Amino acid sequence: MDMEKLVSLCKRRGFLFQSSEIYGGLNGFWDYGPLGVELKRNIKEAWWKDMVSGHDDLVTLPGAPEAYEMVGLDCSIIMHPQVWKVSGHYDLFVDKMVDCRETKGRYRADHLDCYRVSEKGEHEDEKFGYVATNLSQAEFQASWSNSFYKKLEKIFQLKEPMIEMVSKPYSTLKEYERGTVLAPGASAVGTLTEPRDFNLMFKTIVGALGTEEDAAFLRPETAQGIFVNFKNVCDSTRVRVPFGIAQMGKSFRNEITPKNFTFRSREFEQMEIEFFCHPNSSRKWYEYWRDRRMKWYTDLGLSSERLQLREHHADELSHYSTGTADIEYAFPFLPPGEFGELEGIAHRGDFDLRSHMEGKLDPNSKPELKVELNAEGKTKWRGSGKDLTYRDDLTNERFTPHVIEPSAGADRGTLAFLCEAYTEDEAPDENGKMQTRVVMKFHPRIAPIKAAIFPLVKKEGMPELAQDIYRKLKKRWNVFYDEKGAVGRRYRRQDEAGTPFCITVDGQTLQDGTVTVRDRDTLEQKRVHQDQLVAELETRLS
Ligand code: ATP
Repeated sequence: MDMEKLVSLCKRRGFLFQSSEIYGGLNGFWDYGPLGVELKRNIKEAWWKDMVSGHDDLVTLPGAPEAYEMVGLDCSIIMHPQVWKVSGHYDLFVDKMVDCRETKGRYRADHLDCYRVSEKGEHEDEKFGYVATNLSQAEFQASWSNSFYKKLEKIFQLKEPMIEMVSKPYSTLKEYERGTVLAPGASAVGTLTEPRDFNLMFKTIVGALGTEEDAAFLRPETAQGIFVNFKNVCDSTRVRVPFGIAQMGKSFRNEITPKNFTFRSREFEQMEIEFFCHPNSSRKWYEYWRDRRMKWYTDLGLSSERLQLREHHADELSHYSTGTADIEYAFPFLPPGEFGELEGIAHRGDFDLRSHMEGKLDPNSKPELKVELNAEGKTKWRGSGKDLTYRDDLTNERFTPHVIEPSAGADRGTLAFLCEAYTEDEAPDENGKMQTRVVMKFHPRIAPIKAAIFPLVKKEGMPELAQDIYRKLKKRWNVFYDEKGAVGRRYRRQDEAGTPFCITVDGQTLQDGTVTVRDRDTLEQKRVHQDQLVAELETRLS
């Protein structure tokens, strides 16, 4: 699938717009248009219904060790600054960035790909340099014109420069190699600075005084709001471990290089669950959530071919975790064989609750997690001092629950569903001639518009009848009425919007009360009595 075609459809049909576009846009920020807002809302509602409000607390679901409860929260975006000091975001939520002194470009050191350039023949190991790019391999290769080679010849003083096909991120280059790098758009080598830490949290000021003591942060994840409310939820509800708390909402990260459409944005929405369980059963719960979340995506139509569950290797895990997996999708903007993360499912042990009780824990302390100390040997970032342990009222056991965290991105999910839905096939036009058609094959549950209602022509009482049907259906679903233009063109517009069904009132409706229901994917048309429409749609949309 060609990503450019999807991006242009998103703009043309109102799925996604660049934020503040009339002022030239703002990098890393996006607006959802009339169709996009419905799509994303349906995805978030499906998540909330399937994980929280529709969850059956009384049965043991397949794969789960036992029955469990789910509740929700909606926390503030700006929280007490201590939350981020204790969680580790203040010290550790950093990416390495490099600046180009010549072009003023700024890059993430691990996203700047460096290709080795050397001279054909004997001198291969003696004379070399690196040409750096933030383009994909395919885009970069497409820029290798004669004049590009001439430029390399001059800059690197190489006779017949050869570019290796395998790249290394700038962050992994040795110091002596860094001096030989030609930055994107630069005219000489060695213009990049040493990689520096850059904290991704957006800083803001709370209150009128505007001093550094009033500095606060926009949350970079929704999870911490759940941990700091753990006691409130336990005290105000009758939940018993095991139970989960879910939250969805905006998060903010000042990404150094936002890219790939909405995949890496600076403002985005997360859908997160913190699931609290007994340490002894935490591994089983981790496996349950990993598989449950994977199935959620496939049930909503992401093909298993493009979707993968990647378990992290033991050496990638923090020592307090017994498992982490990423659900990944082969986005079309990635090179073949590469996948992008949609959701991470992590076993976090008791790291977070203990940190908020005792003070920031040092994630590298072993075997027991210990509070991190400052140069004076005192607790580096003080915890709340509140008791966040749990007492099982049946067994009287007191323990700090372990946590399984399925953390999904609503925007990345939406982007994956958009990519998956984009299809080009052939359909006959009004004259029966086959034409290429663009159709968004969304699962009916997430489709922005569930059905469109058309009168075949604007006369003989057909519009009135179609409007009656529209009003009846509108009470239940987001449906759309359209009487403008040839019916074939109206079908095409709905195909591009991903509307699963088109209902047409025609001459026969006036006689026997039946309408045609056209299926977006099979193009089959079935006659259904108008009184049966609600029941018909109910079955087909579920
Ligand atoms: P990445 O490595 O791609 O930056 P991450 O591992 O930092 O992602 P998490 O901190 O695990 O991501 O966040 C959980 C989810 O939030 C991700 O799986 C993703 O869906 C979403 N997410 C994270 N950062 C962004 C972003 N900049 N833009 C859009 N979604 C994001």
